[in-house]
Amino acid sequence: MSDAASKRDAFEAKIRAYVGLKEGLPFECPDPVNEPMIRHWCEVMGDENPAYLDPEVAKKTAHGGIVAPPTMLQTWDMRGYAMRDPALIQNKQRELHKLFDDAGYTGVVATDTEQEYKRYLRPGDRITAETTIESISEQKATALGIGYFVVTRTVFTDQNGEEVGWLTFRVLKFKPAQQPGAADDDRRAAASKPTRIRSPRGHDNAWWWEACDEGRLLIQKCSECGALRHPPRTMCGKCQSTQWGSIEASGRGCVYSYTVLHHPPIPGYDFPCPVALIDLEEGTRIVANVAGCEPEDIHIGMKVECVFQDVDETMKLPFFHAVK
Ligand code: ZN
Repeated sequence: MSDAASKRDAFEAKIRAYVGLKEGLPFECPDPVNEPMIRHWCEVMGDENPAYLDPEVAKKTAHGGIVAPPTMLQTWDMRGYAMRDPALIQNKQRELHKLFDDAGYTGVVATDTEQEYKRYLRPGDRITAETTIESISEQKATALGIGYFVVTRTVFTDQNGEEVGWLTFRVLKFKPAQQPGAADDDRRAAASKPTRIRSPRGHDNAWWWEACDEGRLLIQKCSECGALRHPPRTMCGKCQSTQWGSIEASGRGCVYSYTVLHHPPIPGYDFPCPVALIDLEEGTRIVANVAGCEPEDIHIGMKVECVFQDVDETMKLPFFHAVK
């Protein structure tokens, strides 16, 4: 066996010892399930379901009162941006990531999550989360670099010890791919230049991306009640009609919220990378990059307009520029 192969075997034996281990002690979520957090979450997500928001209406539903949106499950376990919770610092997942870092797998990117909800949570429920390192893949070659997929599973239980839901979270720990060296010829550098992630075009949304290819920003419109909706989907949320058409957006709007991404530097994107939620003047929102100004000049309420730009040879996307 070569040196490199035996080194890799030794490393894999070390990381595999973590499979099946609990991340740490069960974590008692800091706040009980509560109405203010439900209300804020619904506002941010644009979810107006009265079962989550209106006590009078909620009383008459099968739930008999306000319930939390199931997809909020993970928010009860959030521990703040600083992540200073001792249970997070001294835990097995951190230890495992340190082993990867020390072996050169310094990159990390979250790839996907699966979730299942066993029951609706109600205000007053006390949630405990317990996370297990479920699996580590074989070594994989990815566009980001060589690495391993690590899956953790978090099980959520209530004050009676009953399971209320679970989620898995998969991350890729990878050795960042080497940048082409200065000595490489331009052609090779261009050929290996990573591109943006392609748009996911399916049966229900390909039409929207195809309009982008032509530099047109469309908004889906219900043929029954006229409600506009975005992103594209099969059914009207207002009247449940599946008949729809579209209108062309003026492209004018304003920044409802935004964030500036610095890390991880995903190949194919320019960093810092400002991503904004834009209120279009027609009344729907769209997530898009803001361009043409410094990230620090972006602000909530900033008036913007859509400009289609080629991000590479085969992809055109709507960007939003400040209106002068
Ligand atoms: Zn409708």
